[in-house]
Amino acid sequence: MDYAAAGGSLGGSIRVVDLCLGKHAANCGLLIHSLAMDYLGRQARLREDLSRARCDALLVTHLPNIHYLCGFTGSSGALLLGAGGSVFFTDSRYTQQAKAQVKARKIVITKKAPAIAAAEWISSQPRRNRTTKAGVLGIEPPYVSVLSRKNLAAALSKNVRLREAPPLVEQARMVKDADEIAAIGSAVELGASLFGCALATIRSGVPEVEVAAEMEYAARKKNAEGMSFETIVASGPRAALPHGRASPAAIQAGGFVVCDFGVILHGYCSDRTRTVYVGAATAEARRIYDAVLASQLEAIAAVRPGIKVEQVDRAARKTLQKKGLGKYFTHSTGHGVGLEIHEAPRVAKGQQEILQPGMVITIEPGVYLSGQWGVRIEDMVVVTEQGCEVLSPTQKDFIEVG
Ligand code: ZN
Ligand code: ZN
Repeated sequence: MDYAAAGGSLGGSIRVVDLCLGKHAANCGLLIHSLAMDYLGRQARLREDLSRARCDALLVTHLPNIHYLCGFTGSSGALLLGAGGSVFFTDSRYTQQAKAQVKARKIVITKKAPAIAAAEWISSQPRRNRTTKAGVLGIEPPYVSVLSRKNLAAALSKNVRLREAPPLVEQARMVKDADEIAAIGSAVELGASLFGCALATIRSGVPEVEVAAEMEYAARKKNAEGMSFETIVASGPRAALPHGRASPAAIQAGGFVVCDFGVILHGYCSDRTRTVYVGAATAEARRIYDAVLASQLEAIAAVRPGIKVEQVDRAARKTLQKKGLGKYFTHSTGHGVGLEIHEAPRVAKGQQEILQPGMVITIEPGVYLSGQWGVRIEDMVVVTEQGCEVLSPTQKDFIEVG
């Protein structure tokens, strides 16, 4: 559909902001900080995929996908992408921000839900501007509730129908471009520096939340936009909880502390886990730690373009199985990271996705014995032409604290 031809007001509740192909950004750059990325290139490539998905236009409602395609980082928006260009819909809280950030042919400020405004917009377009008679509007099924779909259908004219689109934007987001890899690298570097705060705080008697608080305070002081997930500081028997968020429990001597933490910087996430021992470690504790480290290194060594992601998972699992710890490795080996903390591909058993240069994944094997202990070591790697590069590599040798 050709949005270039459309313009003007659609009624009392919708206001159209002038073309915004970057000319406002210079004025607003000091107010709203964001990185310039190849948004228009991403939109152009996605438009080429639309016919493959048998859609005339795509209604993008998942905020990270909107961010990826047009640069908007607010909490309310919808992006309509068709053959003729893109139209972005948001509400009046984001008028200035949208002008500064969004790369789209038009920006529409609406009092309605942005997706509903988009549905009404597409219905209002003259038939001659549609690329097919039917008018097929693709939606993102994982992000459209049953109620939203019903409301969307009601807002559309009879000659436009909805189709569940394949995950076109997620597929594109899997392979990061150079700008994204640079942004992720900065986030990982900032995230990695927080482990120093953890080491300075972890000792017997200190609550887990205090360790998390020090790390998060340092992150904000270093300009992190937030944490990419709730910081995990899990000590003693709580270390056996793979997602043990920091609790008021006091850290005790004689056990592991798993710290899993990440930041958001320029919209991109970091994710890293380090495990330390409080007090003098037993030989068994060292054996378990070394086995997890060997597993992580084996998995990193396995990463290269052209293989299935399940092969990386297998490499991690095989090493732990050889040491009799396979049954304690209870989760998958890793996941993609980017604008979201968990995104495609999953690095897990049975996953057939082929690794490609530019993919960014975590490698994070762990072993857990319920009620007793847990150990996990995690890094982010970027797949390169030859293999992979660990982002902000740091020492992973066994550390005793206190
Ligand atoms: Zn993590
Ligand atoms: Zn992770």
